[in-house]
Amino acid sequence: MSPRSLLALTLALFLVAAELPARTPLKPGRNAFSKEQDVELGREASRKIEQQVKVVDDPALRNYITDLGRRLYSTVREPDANYPFNFHVVADKSINAFALPGGPLYVNTGTIVAADNEAQLAGVIGHEIGHVIMRHSTNQITKAQTAQLPLAILGAVLGSGAAGQLTSVVAQLGVGSVFLKFSRDAERQADVLGTQMLYDAGYNPEEMARFFQKLAGEGGRGPEFFSDHPDPGNRMNAVQAEARTLGAARTSTALTDRFQAMKRLAQQWNNRAPSPNQKGGGASSSGTSGGSTGSRPEINASGTFRSYNGSGFRISHPESWNASVQESTVLIAPQQGVVNDGIAYGAMISVFEPQEQRGVRLTLSEATRQLLEQLAQQNPDMRRSGGTRSINVNGIAADSITLSNKSPLRGETEVDWVVTTWRPDGMLFYIIFIAPERDFSRLKPAFDQMLNSLQLAN
Ligand code: ZN
Repeated sequence: MSPRSLLALTLALFLVAAELPARTPLKPGRNAFSKEQDVELGREASRKIEQQVKVVDDPALRNYITDLGRRLYSTVREPDANYPFNFHVVADKSINAFALPGGPLYVNTGTIVAADNEAQLAGVIGHEIGHVIMRHSTNQITKAQTAQLPLAILGAVLGSGAAGQLTSVVAQLGVGSVFLKFSRDAERQADVLGTQMLYDAGYNPEEMARFFQKLAGEGGRGPEFFSDHPDPGNRMNAVQAEARTLGAARTSTALTDRFQAMKRLAQQWNNRAPSPNQKGGGASSSGTSGGSTGSRPEINASGTFRSYNGSGFRISHPESWNASVQESTVLIAPQQGVVNDGIAYGAMISVFEPQEQRGVRLTLSEATRQLLEQLAQQNPDMRRSGGTRSINVNGIAADSITLSNKSPLRGETEVDWVVTTWRPDGMLFYIIFIAPERDFSRLKPAFDQMLNSLQLAN
């Protein structure tokens, strides 16, 4: 090596080192759980999940995903980020991936098939690794604790032998609603960490943004990833911004030539997997158990009601339904109403902070319009199916809007009935009553009774 090229190399190394502080620093949020509890919880949840999905037992595919995952994970510099990761492929056509606390990580065959190159697939895996390292699941439960999680549940969660108790909480809420739905901030953080991993592993991090763009453009086929990982638009920009910060010197899209072969293999599994739009999804030859994609649940909303005291409100709901809290959202749903990790039947109660323009107080309908815009962003299949009606809830002015949306029950459309009203502190309070289209009128009397019982604190 000539002195000149040595100098160039030294300079290059110096530039790489100098570049490091430029990356967006990432800090995990507050967490009441230990790392060991994350691992324990993830292990419990993976047992449950693996009864519901079809894990591909092809060693070639599994080794490939494991190699890819390890390569990404090995670039992580956080000293505290050692988790027993294990990587799995799920035979499922929908484009999605998810990770459980402490390391179990699952990638659908549909994602492998949809990726144009290894960098795009790596982007999705890096994003999921990001959720694990930043401990978004248990951070979310921790935040719910301060919001309004009933103390009895939290006591059980944090007490000794937590995993067993928490498993019952998980069963009550549905694994998906506790572990797989994160805030947009958490998604952004996972994106940034994923982008950094891509870069450090030698991939072009822009491919991650390109993959989002491709999925967003695919409409009918690709929104699953976005419904579990909200807000594609801003996230694309954030990934691009981080890629620019890193310098984006990498041009490689593949580190190995295995990708194309694995994509063909994934396609074969995909052909045998149930289609996301196939009702019942029973096509799987190896018998997906767990019943989450099986027949329609029997929902009982009649009989006595009991009262739920939330923060700043009180509402009655059918006795057999359960209330649970996730961040600042209260879900009131029958246990069988949680289907395929989504709420097929039930009510969601939350608050929204509208953006005032030039300090002028918004009208209720203006604030409601902002809320609907945000909901539409998070739910690409959501549509207006009627105008806004002014109604009266216990003497308080409220707006009522009916939307249609894709139901978690495969192949079905649901009705989302949204009711909004002002809270005394200027936040917009809202309830969304949810049921599949063909069951909505049967549940409407129960929804009406819930709404009529609503009381906001003064
Ligand atoms: Zn995510």
